[in-house]
Amino acid sequence: MGSEKLQTYRRKRDFSKTPEPAGTVSETGNRFVVHKHSASSDHYDLRLELDGVLKSWAVPKGPSLNPADKRLAAATEDHPLDYIDFEGVIPEGEYGGGPMIVWDTGVWAPMGDPHADLEKGSFKFRLAGEKLNGGWMLTRLKGKPEDKGRDNWLLFKERDPAMDTEIDILTARPESVKTGRRIEELVAAPAPAKRNKPVPGKLPNAVKGPMPDKIDLQLASPAAALPKDADWLHEIKFDGYRTLAFIEDGKTRLITRGGLDWTRRYGDLPGAFAALDCKQAIIDGEIVVLDEKGISRFGKLQDALSEGAGNKLVFYAFDLLYLDGWDLRASPLNKRKALLTQLLAGHINARSALHYSDHMEGDGSALYSRASDMGLEGIVSKRANGPYQGGRSSSWVKVKALQTGDFIIAGYTDSEDAGGIGALGMAEWVDGELQYRGKVGTGFDVPTIAR
Ligand code: MN
Repeated sequence: MGSEKLQTYRRKRDFSKTPEPAGTVSETGNRFVVHKHSASSDHYDLRLELDGVLKSWAVPKGPSLNPADKRLAAATEDHPLDYIDFEGVIPEGEYGGGPMIVWDTGVWAPMGDPHADLEKGSFKFRLAGEKLNGGWMLTRLKGKPEDKGRDNWLLFKERDPAMDTEIDILTARPESVKTGRRIEELVAAPAPAKRNKPVPGKLPNAVKGPMPDKIDLQLASPAAALPKDADWLHEIKFDGYRTLAFIEDGKTRLITRGGLDWTRRYGDLPGAFAALDCKQAIIDGEIVVLDEKGISRFGKLQDALSEGAGNKLVFYAFDLLYLDGWDLRASPLNKRKALLTQLLAGHINARSALHYSDHMEGDGSALYSRASDMGLEGIVSKRANGPYQGGRSSSWVKVKALQTGDFIIAGYTDSEDAGGIGALGMAEWVDGELQYRGKVGTGFDVPTIAR
């Protein structure tokens, strides 16, 4: 029912060649998206969910927060709802060929009857997105013969607190709100074939077999002090929801520690796994929300979930338990983590939803004192060559950081090396690429941390 609405959309595309969705028409909602699209010319596509499809306008110069800027908006064919998440590269030679990112997304509301307003060509609505907010106006231009039947409108911002006559939002916030990538990065990304595809069967003790549908999580035992032996590695302890990501044929389920499927509660986050080069995988990690210093805060996670702000969520991956036909739980932890970095390589950067939880090997005391200064929750130490064992064991231990309020703040204000925080939280990143360097994770500059 209603699929005739997508006839024009489908006629223009060859779905055997483009990664765009063929689309279905389903229940109505109130989401919106603004795609940034580099096709034959660069433009932005405003799409509003209405009557089970996305009403679409191509805006060559993009939206402006300045009410004085009236931007041409050419109505284009209705797009399917599934398109709201679409980010990727439409192949050259196909309709609209070129890269496209989710530049902004959120919810919208009409200020009047949207059908009547669209009909009469004077359409006011509100947006609640990450970049675009408040009242907006679309007004239809009178047709001229040279328009050849094109349906042209003007898009502009209403005067309200969400307007801004100073900032050019297009240059201030060029990135995808879905993945943090800029549109140039989609084009510049090396072909996946060039990367070293992870080979799970080469790991010691890897066991060939079907993907388990349940995993008994390994838990850390509390300890008073960090283990001193050299064969331990040390990770930041996150303050969020421990979560297993089950990836299967492009779909990801996010399962709580208690075995509940919370995939739907996490907004866009499950989609972040879709680009990984695997058919099946189980990744152990923690879902968190980071504060402005890059530190995970449970309160912020709860706020984000209750507000439905799914695009603030980050998944810190710290273990790989299964990959493409191989159960890796009997393999040594450091080998599993090395394979995990390979799987994630190229799919994460400082603003992406996926992160890798790097570690230090050997003496973790510098990391521990730094964690205390920064007000992190603590450290999890793990036997570097240990298998993954369900339940609480002594091969993973958690050590709480020392915390006193004043001291934490002093630890911060002191430092030019606020980068040091980044180093702990997210500095696995060099120029947008994950770089694994063996003993000490990239960014863990030991002399700096020890200072
Ligand atoms: Mn377009």
